[in-house]
Amino acid sequence: MLVAGILQFLFPATVRKPKFLFYENAVDLIHILFNSLFYLTFFGIAASATRRFLVDHTPWLIFDWAADLPLFAQALLMLLLLDFLVYWRHRFEHRISLLWPIHLIHHTSRRIDVLTTHRLHFLEVMLGGIIVGWATSVSGLSRDAISIALLVYIHYNHFIHSNIDVRFSSPLRFILVSPFMHRWHHALDKEGHDKNFGVVFAWNDWVFGTAFHPSHEPACFGLELDQAHEVNESWLRQQIYPFRIWVQKLAALTHIRRQVS
Ligand SMILES: [Zn+2]
Ligand SMILES: [Zn+2]
Repeated sequence: MLVAGILQFLFPATVRKPKFLFYENAVDLIHILFNSLFYLTFFGIAASATRRFLVDHTPWLIFDWAADLPLFAQALLMLLLLDFLVYWRHRFEHRISLLWPIHLIHHTSRRIDVLTTHRLHFLEVMLGGIIVGWATSVSGLSRDAISIALLVYIHYNHFIHSNIDVRFSSPLRFILVSPFMHRWHHALDKEGHDKNFGVVFAWNDWVFGTAFHPSHEPACFGLELDQAHEVNESWLRQQIYPFRIWVQKLAALTHIRRQVS
């Protein structure tokens, strides 16, 4: 995160006052602190127990055949699997109306930079932890390979969120996600909506029809006004938001049923 932070300071895509002058920065820092301590909370313990349950009930190892491959090849396999799973988790979070209120918190930032990486609702941290924990546990790959893949994934995730003026031209743009490509995922501009779900490898977006790679930067970032006014710059309100939406949906459903019966 430190390297990406220095790079975005030296080579900014959007020149602006440092984010630490803004209240929005405090919200990011609270997200970082809580997400770092997440596994010490009840929800972290529940996520670990769920992962353990899923691992115990998975009767096979995904890469059983690859245990004797060189370390580099095993790490690459792990990274490919993680990125594929994250692509689909991310896409479902955008498309399923019950999941969107959770992931929406990541899209509240109007100033995309390296700190935005950690702007996540605790339920998304929980879901991500379960999926990644399950995949690494049933991969059948060596511990060193898994550690390398996770390190690359974490650092690359910081890189794509950083405010660095980096975009890839062909053929690299079909292989790797650039900060430019991920900025379009956070764009308020309509043409960028529900595009560029990948974190490390861009080909999932190109193959599954969600890639968007124009020649210009987005005009602005964040949420549509009708959603943005409901999730203000408060960490606590952001954590409560999905539960509020689910209660509203449940109340509306109950009301409709009463009217029908
Ligand atoms: Zn998203
Ligand atoms: Zn993002």
